[in-house]
Amino acid sequence: MNINKSAPPPLAPELIEEFRKIVGDRHAITDAADIEAYVTEERNLFHGRSPLVLRPGSTAEISAICKLASEHRIALVPQGGNTGLVGGQTPHNGEVVVSLRRLDKIREVDTASNTMTCEAGVVLQIAQQKAAEVDRLFPLSLGAEGSCTIGGNLSTNAGGTAALAYGVAREMALGLEVVLADGRVLNVLSKLKKDNTGYNLHNLFIGAEGTLGIITAATLKLFPKPRAVETAFVGLKSPDAALKLLTIAQSEAANALTSFELLSEMAVDFSIRHGIDVRDPLQEKHPWYVLMELSSPGEDARTPLESILGRAMEEEIVDDAVIAANLTQRAGFWKLRDEMSAAQKPEGGSIKHDISVPVAAVPAFIAEADAAVVKLIPGARPVPFGHLGDGNLHYNVSQPVGADSADFLARWHEMNAVVFAIVLRMGGSISAEHGIGVLKRDELPDVKDKTAIELMRAIKAMLDPLGIMNPGKVL
Ligand code: FAD
Repeated sequence: MNINKSAPPPLAPELIEEFRKIVGDRHAITDAADIEAYVTEERNLFHGRSPLVLRPGSTAEISAICKLASEHRIALVPQGGNTGLVGGQTPHNGEVVVSLRRLDKIREVDTASNTMTCEAGVVLQIAQQKAAEVDRLFPLSLGAEGSCTIGGNLSTNAGGTAALAYGVAREMALGLEVVLADGRVLNVLSKLKKDNTGYNLHNLFIGAEGTLGIITAATLKLFPKPRAVETAFVGLKSPDAALKLLTIAQSEAANALTSFELLSEMAVDFSIRHGIDVRDPLQEKHPWYVLMELSSPGEDARTPLESILGRAMEEEIVDDAVIAANLTQRAGFWKLRDEMSAAQKPEGGSIKHDISVPVAAVPAFIAEADAAVVKLIPGARPVPFGHLGDGNLHYNVSQPVGADSADFLARWHEMNAVVFAIVLRMGGSISAEHGIGVLKRDELPDVKDKTAIELMRAIKAMLDPLGIMNPGKVL
């Protein structure tokens, strides 16, 4: 998609030396082989180039890096776990990479305020584990949680599988510490739910994809740890049936419904065929599946789950269902879901759309989009799956069997245009949770309110007048 393997533009040796003095010898990487891991990403859709990767160990070091970079107009790309899906963390034009991975301290856990203050490089799974150790829940959960970082999650405003009940990353952050482009440190870390003292500044940096400043720490909300969690894998005939099941589940379980994932037959097939240690939870194949989870602060989530499924079976909405009998089976259900993105790779080129539409419009969206992409490229294989409860689908399309993957991927933007037209007609968004990065940058001005774009540009110009913060991303 955006592959640049040419040598990076040189950086003056004296300048490299100045950066090296800030972070220490070991943490200023100039060797091309060592830099490789920071300029490419797992799916090989993006490959960038950089003369220098810096691995600072403190907010003060990041502040010094930004100050030096702005004095010499050196462009910087902040990077966390490098799991982003829109090329935002890749230095496409020889920028210096600032890796946040060494900022990995959990500064404080406060169970009375129900907050946890983490540095930006803390891996999401570590934050989840730390919360569990003090009998709390940090609910953000996504397939990349073993390697993505809190800074990256906030910078992309990640959603994930529990957004239905707990909201997206933005709703889990009470305050931030951010280093601005000129090196100033903005400290709006806060444990307060209530603080009406003017503009909500920390929210500007959430979802900004590193274009306005570098997040160095965050105060996150903690939630009560559910006492009971029950997970079901359900087979049904159509997205419409899944929507009816969702409606029953929401009316019977309300906030206890913490996940509701819609999976197409092809997405499940690919995961079983290519995923590691993935098994089919049901005896027979179904055109559509739902992975749903109920979490209860009390001891029992099974009774309400059985009641929901019982009613749905009676009303012939659900054809088959299994409730996980133990933690291993539950992990197996989620493994099938989590392997879904990776499992598309062996099937050749995959054109991805991370979209949202109003929940009620999901079945119509799938029907219209399927017809449109197959009309555009006969034999193309839609592989939709995602967070039906949030109206968010990963509407991925695999190449026709036997087609040339480069030829197929060359039609990425053409297919985007067809799919996005349907999304926009239905009042949806072309990027539900992965962000804009470079992947959707050129489409953004066509789909977003003109005044909103003007304000975004004005905010960018005010906070980063020299344009050194992750240039070429988002805007
Ligand atoms: P990176 O990839 O390193 O960076 C992402 C962006 O944030 C870049 O623009 C970067 O410049 C910026 N950035 C990173 N750290 C900072 C910082 N400290 N300060 C300022 N800017 C920064 N996303 C979802 O929303 N929901 C999902 O369900 C989901 N599932 C995924 C499953 C898989 C298997 C994968 C690979 C990705 C998935 N994602 C999902 C994408 C998601 O955006 C990322 O996984 C994650 O949020 C990014 O975190 P990261 O630390 O890897 O950030």
